[in-house]
Amino acid sequence: MPPTLLIKNIQLLATMNDRRDLLSDAYIQIEGPRILSVGTGEPPLAAERIIDGKNCLVIPGLVNTHHHLIQVLTKNIPLVQTAGLFPWLLTLYEIWREITPEAVYAASLTGMAELLASGCTCTSDHLYLFPRVGSGHFIDRQIDAARQIGIRFQPCRGSMSRGKSLGGLPPDDICQSEEAILEDCRRLLETYHDPAPLAMTRISLGPCAPFNVTDQLMKETVRLAREYKVSCHTHLAETLDEEEYCRKTYHCRPFDYLENLGWLGQDIWLAHCIHLNEPEIEKMGQTGTSIAHCPTSNLRLGSGIAPIRRLLDRQVPVGLGVDGSASNDSSHMLAEARQCMLLHRLEPGVAWITAEEALWMATRGGARALGRDDIGSLEPGKAADLVLLRLDRMAYAGAQSDPLAAVLYNLSPHPVDLTMVHGQIVYQNGSCLRIREEEAVAETNRHAAAMLSAALHKSGLPLRKRPDFSIPLSPYRLQKT
Ligand SMILES: [Zn+2]
Repeated sequence: MPPTLLIKNIQLLATMNDRRDLLSDAYIQIEGPRILSVGTGEPPLAAERIIDGKNCLVIPGLVNTHHHLIQVLTKNIPLVQTAGLFPWLLTLYEIWREITPEAVYAASLTGMAELLASGCTCTSDHLYLFPRVGSGHFIDRQIDAARQIGIRFQPCRGSMSRGKSLGGLPPDDICQSEEAILEDCRRLLETYHDPAPLAMTRISLGPCAPFNVTDQLMKETVRLAREYKVSCHTHLAETLDEEEYCRKTYHCRPFDYLENLGWLGQDIWLAHCIHLNEPEIEKMGQTGTSIAHCPTSNLRLGSGIAPIRRLLDRQVPVGLGVDGSASNDSSHMLAEARQCMLLHRLEPGVAWITAEEALWMATRGGARALGRDDIGSLEPGKAADLVLLRLDRMAYAGAQSDPLAAVLYNLSPHPVDLTMVHGQIVYQNGSCLRIREEEAVAETNRHAAAMLSAALHKSGLPLRKRPDFSIPLSPYRLQKT
């Protein structure tokens, strides 16, 4: 028999089930990797291990739907602290091309540690950068990191096939041929994808964005994904520059481009979707296409505010994503939910996002986006992925009238006390239990410094220069180059 664990006397348990039940004086029983029962009062069965949930809130583990973990190596680079997406990318490509498999591992481990510490139990990652020299098996190293630290992982095999010589944005030497990309996609699917319920590793496929992939790759990727019954992911409608690029290159809007390539449906989730018009929002809902909403990144890059309330009104599934650490600079899922709750108060004429809605997006919305029905809620049979937060901390003093909302309204600097993935406690009392955090940080810093130094040497870009804050870098316009 698998080991059993019981958390009892829980002050409040937010199930995030279809009825959105909130249970007071609750318990949750866990057997091995799955939830056995959830209820109130005295639990019906004993357990081998018992945790006292007095003064605690328990919520489902958060699901991160969009990240570029390797960007942990390029947080807050001075030259692009005030740059919009295109100049930001053009500068960072120079550093990212120096990435090595060891750096991928270190950055993934550190980013995953940040995610666990902020209550995330399942993360996706979109790694699309495979420099022509030495980039073999990057995603294998990310899977190694996820297994080491104990987070549920859904890496997305990203890709770029349209370099500068084909009219794309990135330099040619960090792009790959369509054949090489598709071959590696198939290899990863065959090697790692686990379709079984409660799987710890699932693979998705994700050409990067309209301005760096070829039409043929988009079509072939979604065809391959449907052959293997896995989800597909890409960036869409992030900036007005992208819109302009699509008009010039494809003579249509980004959304039309994607639709024409067969890229709408329940097995697709799209990052950002800021610049969508009403018919496009309508079509997103009709096709069941999901969104990875990244409010912090959208603010950081000045990309705009996604029409989240209007998307929700049209039944578009919305999950949350921290996005890469060069456009968020941290991987804090609860902070992302708070950002979502607050940001949309600036949208004129729409109902504000509540704390519960933001947490719903961070749990059920994220699970739906990743195509999973076994995570995102605390119900019998689902994965034992949960987060425990002590409500008797300073930050929550006086906030007991609504303990669930308190977590976003009064976000504590150290909000999570325990993170459980697959029935295993992987983060507790401020530490990831399966790694040496100091070593992970030192390794990450070592690789980050080496990449920056190599880029400085080769590109001559003043990457360490402090930006002139009096002159914000205006959004990049292709016609000006
Ligand atoms: Zn992204």
